[in-house]
Amino acid sequence: MTGSKIIEKARQEKRTVLTEIEAKTILGEAGINCTETKLATTREEAVALSEKIGYPVVLKISSVDITHKSDAGGVKVNLADQTEVEKGFDEIMTSCRAAFPDADIEGVAVQGMAKIGTEIIMGTIKDPSFGPVVMFGLGGILVEVLKDVAFRIVPIEKKDAVAMTGEIQGKKLLEGYRGQDPADLACLQDMLVRLSDFVEKTPGIEEIDMNPVFAYKDGAAVVDARIILSAD
Ligand code: ADP
Ligand code: MG
Repeated sequence: MTGSKIIEKARQEKRTVLTEIEAKTILGEAGINCTETKLATTREEAVALSEKIGYPVVLKISSVDITHKSDAGGVKVNLADQTEVEKGFDEIMTSCRAAFPDADIEGVAVQGMAKIGTEIIMGTIKDPSFGPVVMFGLGGILVEVLKDVAFRIVPIEKKDAVAMTGEIQGKKLLEGYRGQDPADLACLQDMLVRLSDFVEKTPGIEEIDMNPVFAYKDGAAVVDARIILSAD
C-alpha cells in the first residue's frame, strides 16, 4: 500500500495513530531509510518472515492501541533462530494482552536486527502558532533527561539542518567519542530535510516520532517510528 493510501485508510477507520509498519512505509516512501518491517499475524508467519529477513530478528507488538511497546513487554530483540522467534511471539502476545486487555492487536512486526549505532531522535510536532516544526536530538536515557534537542520551523533547507546537527550540546557524541565511529552527519541532515519536505506537502500530520534512529559512519536507519494524524 502507498503512503497516501495508508493515511486514507486510517482516516476511513477513524483512527489517528498509525502502526510502526505503516509509519515506516510512509517514511520509506519519503526517502528516509527505515529497517524493513513486515507484519506476521501468526507464529508460523513470524518464523517464515524471520527466515526470509535473516536472523537475528526483532519482534514487536503491532497494535494502534499500544504505542509504548517495550513498556508492555511488546519488544524482543536479537532473536537468533526459529525456537526463539516462536517463544518471543508467544511471550509478546501474552504480555501485551495482559497489559492491554482491550487492545486491538493486528499481530507482530518482524524486522532485521539493526547493528548498533549512535542513538538519534528525529521527528516533527505541530506548534499551535508556527505549524509543523522539525526536531533533532540525541537518543538514549541521558538525553531524555537533558532534553538536548534542536527545533526548526518547517520548511527547512540543508543549511538549517546543518545548523541543527551542530547546535545540540551533545554534538561531540556525533563527532566520534571514545573510539565510537563518527555519525554520518550529511545523511542525518538529508533525513531532516526530507522529513520537513514530507510534512510540508502532507496535510493532516500531527506528529512524527522516529526514536531511535541509529546513525552510522555511513548512513543511518530508523528502527522505530510513530505517526499521529490530526484529529480533524
Ligand atoms: P518502543 O515502542 O518501546 O519505543 P522500540 O521499537 O523503540 O519500542 O524498541 C525498543 C528498543 O529496542 C529500541 O530503543 C532499540 O534499542 C531496540 N530496537 C528496536 N528495533 C530494533 C531493530 N530493528 N534493531 C535493533 N534494535 C532495535
Ligand atoms: Mg521507540
